[in-house]
Formats: sequence, structure tokens, C-alpha cells
Amino acid sequence: MNKPDLIIRSRRVVTPETVAPASVHIRGGIIAALGEWHDAPEQIPLVDAGDAVVMPGLVDAHVHVNEPGRTDWEGFTTATRAAAAGGVTTLVDMPLNSIPPTTTPDGFAEKIAAARGKCAVDVAFWGGVIPGNTRELEPLLNAGVRGFKCFLIHSGVDEFPHVTESNLREAMPELARLNSVLLVHAELPEPIENAAKELKQSSPKDYQTFLKSRPRASENEAVALMIRLCRETKARVHIVHHSSSDVLPLLEAARREGLPLTVETCPHYLTFAAEEIPDGATHFKCCPPVRERENREKLWAALADGTIDMIVSDHSPCTPNLKLLETGDFLEAWGGIAALQFSLPAIWTQLQRRGFGLRELTRWMSAAPAKLAGLDKRKGRLAIGCDADIVIFQPENEFKVVPEIIEFKNKLTPYAGMDLRGVVEATYVRGTKVYENGEFSAELPGVLLTK
Ligand SMILES: [Zn+2]
Repeated sequence: MNKPDLIIRSRRVVTPETVAPASVHIRGGIIAALGEWHDAPEQIPLVDAGDAVVMPGLVDAHVHVNEPGRTDWEGFTTATRAAAAGGVTTLVDMPLNSIPPTTTPDGFAEKIAAARGKCAVDVAFWGGVIPGNTRELEPLLNAGVRGFKCFLIHSGVDEFPHVTESNLREAMPELARLNSVLLVHAELPEPIENAAKELKQSSPKDYQTFLKSRPRASENEAVALMIRLCRETKARVHIVHHSSSDVLPLLEAARREGLPLTVETCPHYLTFAAEEIPDGATHFKCCPPVRERENREKLWAALADGTIDMIVSDHSPCTPNLKLLETGDFLEAWGGIAALQFSLPAIWTQLQRRGFGLRELTRWMSAAPAKLAGLDKRKGRLAIGCDADIVIFQPENEFKVVPEIIEFKNKLTPYAGMDLRGVVEATYVRGTKVYENGEFSAELPGVLLTK
């Protein structure tokens, strides 16, 4: 029998079935066996994590890397270092904010060229659906994108235009034929345009003004539209960064009906509350917005009952000037929250308070996003045959978010100054240690997952 080349063991190893003492046997970057805790032959290199938690690396299926084209916002080097430091072993890059966007095979080739040789963790890619690119979808899929993202409202950048219902009626049958998945930014323009008319006299510095400018109706109507189109076209639909709790009953009914529909939400919707966001604090701006406390608790309940499947960062940074902190103008500032490195501790901090544990954590942040991206045969769980993407995590330790520890490029984040629970001690990508206690290995073990 072939011997493992590394064993990682602990008193708390998280598998899909249980949290228990075990030893993870790794050979050639793959999990070869899950043995008893004492099953660690002397001659094999051993990492004994003691009582620390050994769990699968997170799969963050919603990250805007922005390279090439807007690398001053974020790039592959900094994003994947932040991922490694945050216990994320696979990230899936969004098709927009980079220039060119990933909406054609040529654009995808430029993206791949920009990412190659820079990645500390594994990286996969979403393509984009924009008006008129239906013919590009099959070649993009053949080139290795994991599925497609679209917007129902202005995306924030002009080179990634949003789609209308009639565009979707063209693209979605093609996606159904290809058995691919459509990720949807679910806000419709009309309620937002109507709200804008009523807010002309309101101060753009007030968080309440911003909140009212992105009303729940916009999300509610968009989700209803996507449920309808999902039912009609049979294309798989995934709602990204869901915020409005009003529409959870509709989503629940659609799931019960058996529609191929999944939903994600993000750490900021599960951590912050509109009532607590200071006026002018535009680093809290994202679309859809962080809503009220009562909304936040309903999102947690929807995770618990399975209406929401997963938690991903929607890491979407920009240069600090675009956040307009001097004027604090919520309506003009760039919408996007930088958080990739802190998703795990932010969620762990909140999740524990609500009585959930490590198995929910790995289900919501590793297994479910891996499945969405079609990576579940090799990512998202500690099981024989899966990649040895492993995080050693100290769930009882705490740390403060200070600029010196932030690895992503632009340090402005709403988590600044917060005390978070759960420290990532070490991160392994396919059996190679990439991060330990603030230090990075010289190696860059990340590969581009285009197959
Ligand atoms: Zn996003």
C-alpha cells in the first residue's frame, strides 16, 4: 500500500458526518485516508494540531479580483494571500470589474494570463451573461468557466451591461441546454428609480437615505422574476448576495416545488444592521444594502432551515478615493465591501452566538459553494479522494482587525477595529502549507481550475 507523505491530526477534525479525533492522511495533495487519531506511523511527517480544529478550506464562490484592468482595486497576488490568511483555499472570481470582463473567450484568456503564477490558493472563474453574448457561452464553458453571472440592474461598470427579461429568455434556454448555472444579481431597476424620485430632499450622507434608495421591492420583484424564468426555462438559477427577507417565503416555496434554485448571502448581511451603521460610513455600502436587524435575523433563520444554502464574501473592493469618505455620500460612493480575509471569523463570531457549530460552518462556507461551482468532487469537505485543502483553526481565540494584518490590497473594510472570534492558524492547499501564523510560504501552490 502507498504510504502517505503527510499526516495532519487533531482532536477535532470536521468531516461531513462528525467532529471527532482523527488523522488526515495525505498523498500527492489528495486525502488518501481518514484514520484513527493514533494512526500516525513514526516515519511519516506529522502535523499534530492538538486541540485546534482541522477542517476543509473555505470555498469562496463570490470574489471580485479585478485583474487585469482594475488591479489597483484588487489583484490575484493580494486576493489569494488574503484568502490563504482567511482560511479560503479556493476562490471563484467574478466576471466583472476586470477589463476586459469575462464575457468572451478572448476576455477569459486575458484573465487566465493575468492570474497565472500569482495564486497562493486555487482559483476558478465565472463567466458573464450580457446582452447579445449567448453564442459565447458554450465556448466560455469549454474554456473552463464554472457558470455565468448576470445583472438585472446597472452593474456599476459600463463594460458589463445588465440584461432584461428578453435577454434572459434568449440566454437561459442555452444555459439549460449546456446544463450550466446562472448567477443573478437580483435587483430590478424600477423600484429603485421610483425611490430616487422621493429621496431628492434627503441627505446622501444618511444611511437611511441609502437604504431607502435600494428598497426591498427591488429584490423581491427580481427574485420573483427569476423564479418564474427558472420554472419556464429549467435553467439552474443561483441568487447572489441575497439581502431582503421579505422574499424568503417565495424562495422557500420555489425550493419545495423542486426548482433548480440556490441562494447565497454574505457575512455583512449576517453581521451588521442598518440601525448601527454611522452616517457617512460608505465602507458599509454594498448593493443590495445591509438592512435592518430584524431582516438579519430572518436571514440566519433561512440558513438554518435551508432556504439559503451558503455564505460567500462578495469581496468587492475599490481604491479608497472611490468610497468618497470625505463627503460620505452614500449615493455616489462605490458599492462593494472588502472582507475576503475575514469572512470565516466574522461568520464564526455570529454563528456561535446563535447556537450553530463547526458542521454548519463548513456546510455553508465550504461544501455548498463547492457544489455551486461544480467543484464538489474535489473541494469543500474532508473525504477520501478530495484535495487536501485544510485549515487549522483556533475557534476559541480572538483577534482585532487592524490594518497591519490585512492582506487584501485596499485596507478599507467595515470590519476594521472589530474583535472577531476564530483564528486561522495554518492553511494547506492540496497538502502544501501556504500560510501559518501571519507568515506565507515562498511557494505559490494555487492552480487555476479550468478543467
Ligand atoms: Zn459581487
